[in-house]
Amino acid sequence: MDNPADDHHFDDTFTLFDLRVEVVAGDKPMVCNHPVGTWFELRGENLILPPGQSFPIYPLAALLPILPAKQRMTEPADWMTTDAEIACPDPHCGGRFRITRVGKRTFRHGEVTVVPMPGSGGGSRAERRTDEPDQGAVG
Ligand SMILES: [Zn+2]
Repeated sequence: MDNPADDHHFDDTFTLFDLRVEVVAGDKPMVCNHPVGTWFELRGENLILPPGQSFPIYPLAALLPILPAKQRMTEPADWMTTDAEIACPDPHCGGRFRITRVGKRTFRHGEVTVVPMPGSGGGSRAERRTDEPDQGAVG
């Protein structure tokens, strides 16, 4: 089997953590509209908010660069593994946002991109996807 795509055991899966972001109290009162306990989750590429709850865009902007890194496996000594709280970007606000890895979710490469994997024999997996029922990126 020279072509890995012909190998039934060719692994095109990868795993990301599901994340929960929850507002915790800091050393100052809250200024923004994010009371303690406000939360959202990130599952794959999708933000999930509880029904009826909002989340302000400014702390979201501070969180966005961190979330894709937190979704991925990191080494135990990496600060990305140990550090879990992000401060609100408003310097007058005491808001802190605690990021917790709450689970793992497995994805297939061809379900999330049309770019072929090295050694996959081309983009046929991604092309095949359009013939399959829509399973969504979050499974
Ligand atoms: Zn704030």
